[in-house]
Amino acid sequence: MSRKRRSDPNADKPVHLKPGRSRAVRLFYIAVEGGVTEPDYLAYLQETFGEEHQFHIHRESRKTGLKPREVVDRVLEHRGEDGELWALFDRDEHIGIPEAFAVAKKARVQVAFSHPSFDLWLLLHFNSFSGAQNGADTIVHKKLQQQKHWETFSDDGDKSVKGERAATLTGKQNAAAKRARKLTNDCPTPACSENPGHADHCDPLKRDPSTGVWQLLVALGILGD
Ligand SMILES: [Zn+2]
Repeated sequence: MSRKRRSDPNADKPVHLKPGRSRAVRLFYIAVEGGVTEPDYLAYLQETFGEEHQFHIHRESRKTGLKPREVVDRVLEHRGEDGELWALFDRDEHIGIPEAFAVAKKARVQVAFSHPSFDLWLLLHFNSFSGAQNGADTIVHKKLQQQKHWETFSDDGDKSVKGERAATLTGKQNAAAKRARKLTNDCPTPACSENPGHADHCDPLKRDPSTGVWQLLVALGILGD
């Protein structure tokens, strides 16, 4: 929510156009694994694109993070409500990923899975990436840190995605999606390709590296020309 815009009498957009109340606004319940980066990113999406593309994101997260299965369970608390259910989780060092996928599939929760981590999706806004990471995002972070405003982005540093840092992503989401889709072509499962994506029988743990976050942006209506 932009407080500035709401209180500024000269604001160029009237308050009634803001998302969240109109029937045309599509609701997305999105649970995420990380406690900082992903919630910040979803807030950024809402703030930057929510009004234009008429969506409202209801976030579910925990400061200390959630495990993949917990992510799916969290979003399932909204089952039966009028909106799409999404779960975002990573390979990281976690076990229980096949189980989280299975539960999500059965309950029709959409999964945006990243391998080694969500942060790969952020990096793809700036650079292509390739090569198996075996669950570690050290290299992903090193490459991100080369970008202006991302210098301190690390697990022991500042993992937030706000302000100037978040603004560096704007306008690059189509390029990021293109790079993410290309990674699908590198999947060792022969049936996987950028169209239509990873096959149902593709083992997520072998999608190294990969990220499906772009599919969320497709659903939100953000990607385009
Ligand atoms: Zn695959």
